[in-house]
Amino acid sequence: MPIPSQIKTRLLKIEKQLDKHYGTPDRVKKADPLDILIGTILSQNTNDDNSYKAFLKLKEAFNTWDQVAELPAGKIEKIIKVAGLGKQKSRAIKDLLNYLKKEKGEVTLSHHKLMSDEEIIDEMTAIPGIGLKTTSCLLLFGYGRNVCPVDTHVHRVMNKTGIVQTSSPDRTFKEIAQYVPAERAYHLHTNMLKLGREFCRPTSPACNICPIKKLCDYGMKHNSPGEKRINTRVLLLDTI
Ligand code: SF4
Repeated sequence: MPIPSQIKTRLLKIEKQLDKHYGTPDRVKKADPLDILIGTILSQNTNDDNSYKAFLKLKEAFNTWDQVAELPAGKIEKIIKVAGLGKQKSRAIKDLLNYLKKEKGEVTLSHHKLMSDEEIIDEMTAIPGIGLKTTSCLLLFGYGRNVCPVDTHVHRVMNKTGIVQTSSPDRTFKEIAQYVPAERAYHLHTNMLKLGREFCRPTSPACNICPIKKLCDYGMKHNSPGEKRINTRVLLLDTI
């Protein structure tokens, strides 16, 4: 089990090495936090293209999220069908919009401005269908907070390298949260996601050519000769 000071040191080293390999990604533009949150709900368990298509369909059909809040969940489900899991996702979107309207009096997330990361996490994860990963995407992409969302790719890389030894992305998120280098969460998340898609595949990782092999427990023991996959379109959330 890695000790806290090791988690911090290894995260720093790996973040620097990833930055050397991929460079420092730039934010494309600032987006509306509610757009980011709904885009993230749509992205659960599907690929970027389909979730983005579903997001655009919703945005094209309605001018405001207020209008979407008035729709029955079944109608939302039909519009977002391409993203899959339509029933759960439409329910989560409807519950979120209803919550904002009833509890906050307006369909916006403007009340988050004065809230801490932990308070926002507690509030959002109390809504069915919105989990820790979705909320951490809101914190990072919507508010620019120093929070590193952990999806399956980031979780895999964190465990293969030996930064943590955890059984789920949520556990990984909690283990690393306080050690993410200041102002580097966006770069760490983006570059680790790229590495997970290109080199650190779930089966046959390309350890022999991986840019962080020398910093990776698994890579140094196995030198797996997988092939690199090119996937340049990472993070459509950033372009919403
Ligand atoms: S060396 Fe291998 S296991 Fe380690 S991060 Fe790279 S691809 Fe993944």
